[in-house]
Amino acid sequence: MKSFCRIAIVIAVFFGLTLPLSAQARSKPSSDTTKSATDTIRVGLEATEIFSTIRVQSFSGNWRLTFMPGNQSPKTVGSILASATTPVATVSELLVEGEDASLMLVPKGIIARLSTEKDLEQGYKTVVIEGGELLSIEIPGHPPTILQGRIEIGNNGNSLTLVNTVNMHQFIVSCVSKMLLSNEPEVIKAMVIVVRTRLQYLKEHAAHPDTDYEVCDTDHCLPFAGCGYNRELVDILTTMTGNLSLMHKGKLIMPRFHHTCGGRISSAKDVYGSDNEPYHPAHDDIFEGKGSENCFHSPGFHWTIELQKFDILDFLSVAYAAGADRIYASWEPEKIDANGRIFQVLLRGRKPKSVSGIDFLQKLQSHFGPNSIKSMKFNMDVLKRTIVFRGMGNGDGVGMCLSGADGLAKKSVKYDEILRFYYPGSELK
Ligand SMILES: [Zn+2]
Ligand SMILES: [Zn+2]
Repeated sequence: MKSFCRIAIVIAVFFGLTLPLSAQARSKPSSDTTKSATDTIRVGLEATEIFSTIRVQSFSGNWRLTFMPGNQSPKTVGSILASATTPVATVSELLVEGEDASLMLVPKGIIARLSTEKDLEQGYKTVVIEGGELLSIEIPGHPPTILQGRIEIGNNGNSLTLVNTVNMHQFIVSCVSKMLLSNEPEVIKAMVIVVRTRLQYLKEHAAHPDTDYEVCDTDHCLPFAGCGYNRELVDILTTMTGNLSLMHKGKLIMPRFHHTCGGRISSAKDVYGSDNEPYHPAHDDIFEGKGSENCFHSPGFHWTIELQKFDILDFLSVAYAAGADRIYASWEPEKIDANGRIFQVLLRGRKPKSVSGIDFLQKLQSHFGPNSIKSMKFNMDVLKRTIVFRGMGNGDGVGMCLSGADGLAKKSVKYDEILRFYYPGSELK
C-alpha cells in the first residue's frame, strides 16, 4: 500500500499534478489511531431494568427503523434480511427529525406507534435504528438519553432490551465526560487512557458472555450515558492521546480507579482477592517531593455519618437474609489491610458468615445511598441507639485515585507520570 502511494505521488509529481490538501488527508492510509476511532463496541443499556415501553425521537438526522420478525437473535440481522422464508415481513420506517415512535412489548412481540400516526401491530422481535445523528431514547422513570450510532431494541420475552453500538472514541468521550471530577487536562488525558485500556481489556476478555453486548453501562464495566454529557475538551484530548493504552509485560491491564483513596491506596489482592494485578499494589497516595496526600483537597477525604442501629439491622436482613429478621444480629470488621481498609466483614447471628468488604460496601451504598458510607476505611463510635462512622476516602481505594490525580496535575505532574504513579510497573504503548 505504502509503495503504491509512493509510486502514485511520484507519478503525480512527474505529471505536475498536485492533490488538494483535503483530498490528500482523505486518501491517507488508515493509521492505528483512525482504526481505533472506528472500532466499535456493543453497549448493553439499563440491562438490569425491566421495561415494556420505550420512546424514541429523532433529535437530528433521519433515522431508519427496521422492524424484524422471528425468533432470531439480533446477531443474525444480516441473515434475516437475506432470508426469503421469513413468515412476517421486515418493515422499514423513516423517523425524520422531530418525529418520534413509541415501542411496546406485548405478548406477540414489539409493536409500535409512530407520530406520523402509523401503527405497526405485527409483533416484532427486534427493531434496529440507525442512520441518523442524534436519537433521544426514553424509558419510563428515567431521564432521556441521547444516543449516536446504531441502536437495537430487542425483546427477551420479559423486557425490552437495548444495545447501542458506538465507536470506541464516542464511548471514551461519553464515559470520561460523565465521570469527570477534574478540569485539569493532564487528568482528563490520564482518564481517557485508563478508560480506553479498560474498554479494550473488557472487549478482549468477554465481560458479558452469553449476552448480545460486550460491556454494560454501569461501574461493573464502565459508566456510559450516551452523548448528552459530552465535553468538547474531553473529545479533543481523546483524539490527542491517539491510541495509547496501559500495558504490563506486554499485556493490557485491567485498570481500576476510584473517587478518593483517603491518603492510602489499597491493593487489588486485599480488596478483590486478585492475584494477577501486580500493577495494583498498596501504596501511599503521596508523590515524593510534592507535599502531602494528593487527594487531601477532596471533599471525600474525611467523612462522618451517624446511622441508627435499627436501620443497620434492617440493612443486614435486607442485604444478607432476603428480608428475614434476626438471622444476623450484628457485624464487625474481620480483616483490615495495612492502610486501615476493612476487606472482610463478619456477620454475627445464627449462622455467622464472612463477606468481602467490597460486597458489604456496595450493599451499604445501595441501601443507604452513595453518600452514606463512602468507603470501608472507617472507625466507629458506638452510642446507645446510633453508630457514628468516621471515614476516609470514597470508593474501593484500588488503582488511580481520581482526586489524587487532580492534586498531582495541580502540582504540575504530567499524565504519563500520573499513570505510572497509580499503575506502577505498567507502560504506555
Ligand atoms: Zn459490565
Ligand atoms: Zn488519594
